[in-house]
Amino acid sequence: MKQFDIVIVGGGHAGAQAAVALRQNKYPGSIAIICDEPELPYERPPLSKDYLSGEKSFDRILIRPQAFWGEKQIDLLLGQRVEAVDAAQHRVSTESGEQIGYGTLVWATGGSPRRLTCSGHSLAGVHGVRTRADVDRIMNELVGVDQVCVVGGGYIGLEAAAVLTKLGKHVTVLEALPRVLARVAGEPLSRFFEAEHRAHGVDLRLNSVVECIEEAEGRATGVRLGGGDVVPCQMVIVGIGIMPAVAPLIDAGAAGGNGVDVDGHCRTSLPDIYAIGDCAAHDNAFADGAHIRLESVQNANDQAVVVAKALTGQPAHYHAVPWFWSNQYDLRLQTVGLSMGHDEAVLRGDPANRSFSLIYLKQGRIIALDCVNATKDYVQGRKLVEKGDRLEAAILADTAIPLKDAA
Ligand SMILES: Cc1cc2nc3c(=O)[nH]c(=O)nc-3n(C[C@H](O)[C@H](O)[C@H](O)COP(=O)(O)OP(=O)(O)OC[C@H]3O[C@@H](n4cnc5c(N)ncnc54)[C@H](O)[C@@H]3O)c2cc1C
Repeated sequence: MKQFDIVIVGGGHAGAQAAVALRQNKYPGSIAIICDEPELPYERPPLSKDYLSGEKSFDRILIRPQAFWGEKQIDLLLGQRVEAVDAAQHRVSTESGEQIGYGTLVWATGGSPRRLTCSGHSLAGVHGVRTRADVDRIMNELVGVDQVCVVGGGYIGLEAAAVLTKLGKHVTVLEALPRVLARVAGEPLSRFFEAEHRAHGVDLRLNSVVECIEEAEGRATGVRLGGGDVVPCQMVIVGIGIMPAVAPLIDAGAAGGNGVDVDGHCRTSLPDIYAIGDCAAHDNAFADGAHIRLESVQNANDQAVVVAKALTGQPAHYHAVPWFWSNQYDLRLQTVGLSMGHDEAVLRGDPANRSFSLIYLKQGRIIALDCVNATKDYVQGRKLVEKGDRLEAAILADTAIPLKDAA
């Protein structure tokens, strides 16, 4: 049986960064990453941006070049899926039946795209956007495609819609709620992005619930909506969130539900097992201590660093300001903090100029900013979020006062 001091399950942002940070911290023991994808660890955000558009090749989105992993003596066990965890025996088993022993286990499995449940959900031409393989399939099929239906007006759906529109496809976005980005942003930001997509020719339909996918000869030919309308298309892209990939850990007895529960050091309830990244449900200081999962590169990387510190004798609590970005057309959205639960949103700048920020307050405290083509606000606003500053709305809205001078 193979045996490693640290086994990391999942070779995405969190898993790869955990291994990198362990070696940076001079961890001397053996480290293996087991991942079900066959590729070297790569960055996921470009999948709906410049990898999908063809502007970046796969080599350019690798987290580290191939040679790095050998040099750092990090074993990559790729194309292998962990199916079960035996917490008492400190071993995992893969789908091929192999047992691998660990001293410490780091669970960094992210999640799989939530699928539609209606009829037609698994037809040819219906795709999620989570892995390189997903996007390669989309790109290979695109040649014969003129109309694409994107289900879900979240970041991934909107980014895909922007790229596909630029590639000359006729894109329809179907959003079940009354506005796009409803779960993550204030209404002015949603309305701004809706207008941008429409101006670029996207047929954006709100309050549109998918009834089923229509088919001919096993391929998707359209999306039928609740009201009976059918949107014809040759491809359906589904971006409706993820399901955290935690079943083997939960089956092994770890506490959790929507993700696996971790404490401030990213420890699960099982001995010598940590969890990090999209799959880790934690109490987040920037969400007033709410127990949440964050799906972002920031969270994956920062939790990886916390685990690496814990395993090299310098334990630290996870207390990192959340940040995120999204690229659509020539717009760069940068967000800092978490806007959930805000009771006031201050508009700074004019969306008509395509450069503005939304500043979110909760009981007078600044909790988050969404900045569109406004990097200065993003950089300077970060300090306001970190400190939870209280500033008058009129000052925040005044673009003549840089945010760094507002406090
Ligand atoms: C299209 C797209 C665009 C995004 N854009 C942005 C962005 O602009 N900014 C941002 O901050 N974030 C973005 N994100 C989110 C970000 O990529 C994720 O938050 C990040 O990848 C999470 O890292 P992770 O390591 O937790 O999970 P992942 O990166 O998903 O890695 C988990 C890995 O574990 C593997 N795995 C799962 N189960 C098992 C198992 N049982 N055995 C072995 N391996 C397993 C998975 O296949 C995967 O390779 C985007 C995500 C996607 C999909």
